[in-house]
Amino acid sequence: MDRFLQGRTALVTGSTSGIGLAIARALAAAGARVAINGLGSPEQIDAALASVREAGAEACHFGADLRRPEEIAALMAQVQDWGTLDVLVNCAGIQHAAPLAEQPTSKWDDIIAINLSAAFHTMQQALPGMAERGYGRVVNIASVHGLVASKNKAPYVASKFGIVGLSKVAALEYAAAGSRDSGGVTVNCVCPGWVETPLIEPQVQAHRNGGSRDDGVRALLEEKQPSQRMSLPEDIAAMVVWLCRREAHNLTGAALPMDGAWTAQ
Ligand code: NAD
Repeated sequence: MDRFLQGRTALVTGSTSGIGLAIARALAAAGARVAINGLGSPEQIDAALASVREAGAEACHFGADLRRPEEIAALMAQVQDWGTLDVLVNCAGIQHAAPLAEQPTSKWDDIIAINLSAAFHTMQQALPGMAERGYGRVVNIASVHGLVASKNKAPYVASKFGIVGLSKVAALEYAAAGSRDSGGVTVNCVCPGWVETPLIEPQVQAHRNGGSRDDGVRALLEEKQPSQRMSLPEDIAAMVVWLCRREAHNLTGAALPMDGAWTAQ
């Protein structure tokens, strides 16, 4: 394994589960020390930490409920005390599928806070230091739902279109930071289609129509994802790691689909 991130520090929000955990592991395998964040029982957090350490680097959990700006401020201060923040991955996210008229206001507030506002707060703290040092990577895990809409996902789609726009503004503002040699400062979104994680389980169950879990997965894929196969969290993580490479210095301001041609339609 090419440990090109040796000596770098990364923060991955929402890395106690799913895609974030896979990203934390992949960054550790590439040599970065990884600050993980996310909710979960002490056992789940310990297991996540052990799995990142096993991937090959130092790891530490920083608890913060990302619905709360004051907890995000404390998180960023603690992480920046722990290491010089070179890679920021905003991955924490929640979903609630229901028609717009039935979306509880509390779900709207939480989804916008976690999926969108938290990334604004972390980027605001991280980007100036990255620019000073000439290297930095911000990767925001958006979704195909940052590029196209689906019914029953009003707050989620709004949050994901929002993070795509936010990332483009940040990419423009920091495009000239650093150099080709130092790697520059880039800000991108990765936009996955269906990925096998706990987040989509309620939707899989809702599509079973009395059949098996596989029937539920098939029904979801048939509806939207032409490849007819889900991504694994590790597939998304591999793209995030590549974006951290020096030679990705000019790939910025992009919203990169990894969606089995969902958004090609
Ligand atoms: P997941 O449920 O497995 O993980 C979500 C993570 O976010 C967990 O670590 C959880 O603890 C954390 N989190 C939730 N609320 C939080 C809060 N208030 N404060 C701090 N952390 C919080 O889900 P996942 O599928 O891995 O999703 C990760 C990201 O990928 C999300 O932004 C999601 O929208 C996006 N995404 C997922 C899919 C998919 O099909 N699974 C597709 C496109 C985009």
